[in-house]
Amino acid sequence: MKLSLNTATVKKQWTLAQIIDGCVRHGIEGISPWRDQVAAMGLKPAVSSIREKGLTVTGLCRGGFFTAKDWRDDNRRAIEEAHALGAQCLVLVVGGLPAGSKDLAGARRQVRDGIAEILPEARKARVPLAIEPLHPMQAAERACINTLEQALDICDELGEGIGVAVDVYHVWWDPKLQSQIKRGGRRIFAYHICDWLVPTRDLLNDRGMMGDGVINLPLIRSWIEGAGYAGFQEVEIFSERDWWQRDPDEVLRTCKERLAIC
Ligand code: ZN
Repeated sequence: MKLSLNTATVKKQWTLAQIIDGCVRHGIEGISPWRDQVAAMGLKPAVSSIREKGLTVTGLCRGGFFTAKDWRDDNRRAIEEAHALGAQCLVLVVGGLPAGSKDLAGARRQVRDGIAEILPEARKARVPLAIEPLHPMQAAERACINTLEQALDICDELGEGIGVAVDVYHVWWDPKLQSQIKRGGRRIFAYHICDWLVPTRDLLNDRGMMGDGVINLPLIRSWIEGAGYAGFQEVEIFSERDWWQRDPDEVLRTCKERLAIC
């Protein structure tokens, strides 16, 4: 599988323009930018630079947050940006509980209804939507879809143009992971990798480099490939205390080295 760099991995050190150059320098053929970084560079310059360098946009991060107030406009813009970038998918971080609410089932219905509402626009723009289930520790604040099974149930319900992003950080613990990856099949639009550190010191920003933690990456990769996924492996590491502190060229070099052994 080819390597893609999720731009969050070096976002503290580099601008998007620098990250694009860095990918080219290190022979990384895919990139998955975050929308704030695209906005900082400007959508048009980002599109032309990525195109000029021949990088594949394996995803745009992110749409979603269907339980927040301005979700319609924000998702519309996200679909337009993903279309302009030629992204293979728009990653959806679906949103958690609405402020002040304890109605988790209601939040999950709201998410499904929100996706159903934007899906026709996404289909028209030919932007596949990828639901990324997040670890249950983030159910309140970021995403109330927490397993691949939940995400695929929504896909079953809504039909064409919707699939999943499998991020090992969020799903590695799931006893149904193998069977749900198999079930996902061609609806797996993205595969995100990093590692789970022991101990994990921060819920969001303490992800590990592949090989530094406890996730059996070769095993999960074999399931993903077995399901027919032929896309990129996207490295996505949020690391306040370690990788965001390092020389970004060292980070990219390490990603490539670890990929070869993990
Ligand atoms: Zn991810």
